[in-house]
Amino acid sequence: MTVSSTDLIHHAYIPPAGFAAPQPGVFKASTVFFPSVAAMRHFEWKDKSAYTYGLHGTPTTYMLEERLCTLEGGKQCLLVPSGLAAIATVSLALLRSGDEVLIPDNVYGPNKALAEGELMHWGIGHQFYDPLNPQDLASKIGPKTRLVWLEAAGSVTLEFPDLIEQVRICKAAGVLCALDNTWGAGLAFAPFDLEPGSEVPVAVDISVHALTKYPNGGGDVLMGSVITTDESLHMRLKLCHMRMGLGVAANDVEAVLRGLPSLKLRYAAHDEATRALARWCQTRPEFAQVLHPALPNSPGHRHWQVLCHGEPGSAAGLFSVIFRPEFNQQQVDAFCDTLKLFEIGYSWGGPISLVVPYDIATMRPDWPAHLARGTLVRFSIGLEAVEDLRADLAAALTVFA
Ligand SMILES: *Cc1c(COP(=O)(O)O)cnc(C)c1O
Repeated sequence: MTVSSTDLIHHAYIPPAGFAAPQPGVFKASTVFFPSVAAMRHFEWKDKSAYTYGLHGTPTTYMLEERLCTLEGGKQCLLVPSGLAAIATVSLALLRSGDEVLIPDNVYGPNKALAEGELMHWGIGHQFYDPLNPQDLASKIGPKTRLVWLEAAGSVTLEFPDLIEQVRICKAAGVLCALDNTWGAGLAFAPFDLEPGSEVPVAVDISVHALTKYPNGGGDVLMGSVITTDESLHMRLKLCHMRMGLGVAANDVEAVLRGLPSLKLRYAAHDEATRALARWCQTRPEFAQVLHPALPNSPGHRHWQVLCHGEPGSAAGLFSVIFRPEFNQQQVDAFCDTLKLFEIGYSWGGPISLVVPYDIATMRPDWPAHLARGTLVRFSIGLEAVEDLRADLAAALTVFA
């Protein structure tokens, strides 16, 4: 007689407990077993002391959630399939027809697209505010405002806002504020303790993070997180998250868990190389402006200095340059094409340096006075040797000679 399928499926062997190794085990599930019907009736999906269904969490997702809370100084965490899904979850959970959301003018582009392409159709309005002028934010908060998005620094033009003042304005007006904390990554500053030592903590209500970037660090996983410190706010977000069926795959969670131990070292390395290259670009005649919050004349530098203290490891691996206006788009494109180590591609946070040209005119309704006129190129600095990246930039700049 050959083996029965039943014996292969309902096998009695249980491996010995106590296995310990550097990386945690990975649990994959849609179905989760209950020990009894009574337990099934009793278990509450919102309660993380037990398991009910793969979409509601596994040991693997719970572990990443807890580690991300530690990273950002929060108490509750939701995992979603991308950074953009984290933004969408917050806006959809907290906004209703008739409400308004305020968005910084230099925000991560798809946040604007969500407001313009989806929220509008649900009767949810939006206004853009000047990230460098807290009074502009204050004046735009009205009776319909339910949510304010914050971002420090803006992901393409890299203006650094007075985040502490912006949060104070939101608190004074009684409006929830959500920070896109992808740039800071929980390392450049503490989103739930922006002014350490202050009597009443200055804290954002929600921190969203594209784990796609530094936490994963490989350029090969999409994931996002939504972190809070208030249980009732977390519950509003969690209900929406559950109703929309947002889940993440265990193997992707495993990749992020594997990235976290080296996060701080990688972030500091990206930072150091990026500052060196940004400073070098400042010496080059081809550029009208170099944008990086650590450069003294970059927009919002002072606010970065106050919040992040200017120390090594307190800025991400991004900087942008604006070419002098006499260089046209074709020449700038040729420069990008000539680079050998910098690949052309979106996103950031991985080992390979990236370059993307942007057209400011299509991103900002009015060309901001603090930005030079010209074509902008954003660099994401990877983990290659900085002298090789500098040589690559210098070689590609010869297209302008
Ligand atoms: C990349 C990014 C996102 C979105 O992350 P995805 O995982 O690519 O959807 C959101 N905000 C900022 C600032 C980002 O850089």
